[in-house]
Amino acid sequence: MKRVLITGAAGFLGSHLCDRFIKEGFHVIGMDNFITGDKNNLTHLESHPNFEFIEHDVTEFVSVEGDLDYILHFASPASPIDYLKIPIQTLKVGSLGTHNLLGLAKAKKARILIASTSEVYGDPLVHPQREDYYGNVNTIGPRGVYDEAKRFQESITMAYHRFHGLETRIVRIFNTYGPRMRLNDGRVIPAFMGQALRGEDLTIFGDGSQTRSFCFVDDQVEGIFRLLFSDYAYPVNIGNPHEISIKDFAEEIIKLTGTEQKIIYKPLPEDDPLQRQPDISLAKKILHWEPKMGRSEGMKITFDYFKTLPQDALFKSAHKDFSNHIRK
Ligand code: NAD
Ligand code: UDP
Repeated sequence: MKRVLITGAAGFLGSHLCDRFIKEGFHVIGMDNFITGDKNNLTHLESHPNFEFIEHDVTEFVSVEGDLDYILHFASPASPIDYLKIPIQTLKVGSLGTHNLLGLAKAKKARILIASTSEVYGDPLVHPQREDYYGNVNTIGPRGVYDEAKRFQESITMAYHRFHGLETRIVRIFNTYGPRMRLNDGRVIPAFMGQALRGEDLTIFGDGSQTRSFCFVDDQVEGIFRLLFSDYAYPVNIGNPHEISIKDFAEEIIKLTGTEQKIIYKPLPEDDPLQRQPDISLAKKILHWEPKMGRSEGMKITFDYFKTLPQDALFKSAHKDFSNHIRK
């Protein structure tokens, strides 16, 4: 039985990846320190004979007993309000955490896949974004902690590939959504759906003309799975190219949820990218992958999931309490 380590396992994407690898007959070792994750995302796997869990902060030396065939490094805060609140941890998990996992992959002779992001393109001047675009990132802006950690992560991963001959894969993930997102994580989909469920107005940042392209989680997991088992070591965009402005998206959510609330406008956060759409020609060519789930169906599935959550999840503040994780 092949053994795979998944970091960030208690998070949104990590928990779906655990499910997929269990389904494919792997022995899965999940690792997480719960800084933005949720134990409930893994409850259904707790007693599974092929699943084990290690609570650990990957910025500290990572040790796993036995062989490892694959590592998927998904540990990192991913929502702007999370990484604004814990900027140093965000920088550390992308840099020190990635270094530890590359070292582990080398020691175990495992293939490693790193979760990068469309944020490496920053506020892009090329549209749609292709993998050969170098990006437009403000190193010292508030989002720089995430963007630069991910850019460093890509660099050190390529260095391990070139210098040590390590088998590496890099996925550049574009906005992905679905069940198990944190309702209070501040990202636009849970934000709008949470507001609709609480009977609050929907908050658009800026004038709503900025665009995003939303990919359903099952499509994302399929792309990542195919990339891991491909022989391509350079970054690959995985996302859904159907782009929409945030204003039009808010209207779609109002229709879907049936809320009678209105839209209100708040200032656009600093360095918020004005446009984002993946060029997925490379993924189509080398992975024979493209997303299958349409936005209206994917949003309905996600909203149905949020509706099943207990009331206290709905009314939790948008800011998770990070105090346990911050060294005094
Ligand atoms: P998430 O916050 O739901 O999951 C991240 C998980 O990593 C959490 O469970 C958190 O507790 C864990 N974690 C963070 N720091 C850790 C540390 N030092 N040690 C151990 N565990 C740690 O976020 P997500 O949306 O599932 O994102 C997962 C990965 O995918 C991240 O690397 C993120 O940058 C990347 N990504 C996600 C998206 C998206 O749209 N969801 C887009 C681009 C990139
Ligand atoms: N956004 C918004 N209202 C909200 C939350 C987000 O208008 O309540 C906007 C945000 O400014 C950005 C887009 O929606 O332009 C997507 O934000 P998200 O936090 O989901 O992720 P990003 O793509 O910026 O990393």
